[in-house]
Amino acid sequence: MSPHEVFKDKDNPLLFIVEDELDIARLLASTLAEYGFRSEIFTTGRGALARARRLQPELAILDLGLPDMDGLQVLRELQEQHPCAALILTGRDGLTDRVLGLELGADDYLVKPFEPRELVARVRSILRRYQKTASHEQGQHTQACFADWRFELGSLSLRHADGRSATLSAAEAALLQSLLRRPNKILTREQLIGERELDPFDRSIDVRISRLRRKLEIDPQDPKIIKTVYGAGYLLSASVEWQ
Ligand code: CA
Repeated sequence: MSPHEVFKDKDNPLLFIVEDELDIARLLASTLAEYGFRSEIFTTGRGALARARRLQPELAILDLGLPDMDGLQVLRELQEQHPCAALILTGRDGLTDRVLGLELGADDYLVKPFEPRELVARVRSILRRYQKTASHEQGQHTQACFADWRFELGSLSLRHADGRSATLSAAEAALLQSLLRRPNKILTREQLIGERELDPFDRSIDVRISRLRRKLEIDPQDPKIIKTVYGAGYLLSASVEWQ
């Protein structure tokens, strides 16, 4: 329906708002603009995906119920193009959708109705984590090698010596980095959640751990790299070399 609308200021982070209820989309865009975020509004998934081929957003805010396709499908296709942080909006408060959203690589989730300022707080938190992960938290290091895997911080990609590869969401990459920084030590769930100011998902760490395992482990049911220490937390069982 409507062409995208741009809320400006060229150097600020660009967000896509994919939401077919224009009142909501415009309210979000103007609230985000107050806090210095640029955004473009799309009322269809296809519109956002077409635009993403030419212009990469740092974060996509996705409504699950779009007229032309499911928001989770939009998320999947966006992330096939390049890693992009994602926050899901929905009127459905189902656990299945929540877990599915996280499994597909969403970084956070808000159920309607919500306060626009709450959304801004979530967006900031995601971007902070994302930038930390993507940039230079490790000083000059650009990659970490462990258990025949190479993790590239800039592209959030994983490559195995045997040719397998995978791309992580910002949240998964942050979690993997936490583990890689302290290999062979038990990290509690609290330590792994630590950097988050808001944690609406009790299961988010577990979901992300299992998603990481599916990417890293030969048998995710019998993990050799990310081990569960019952009653304590998780442990990365590998030696890590930063490069
Ligand atoms: Ca909708």
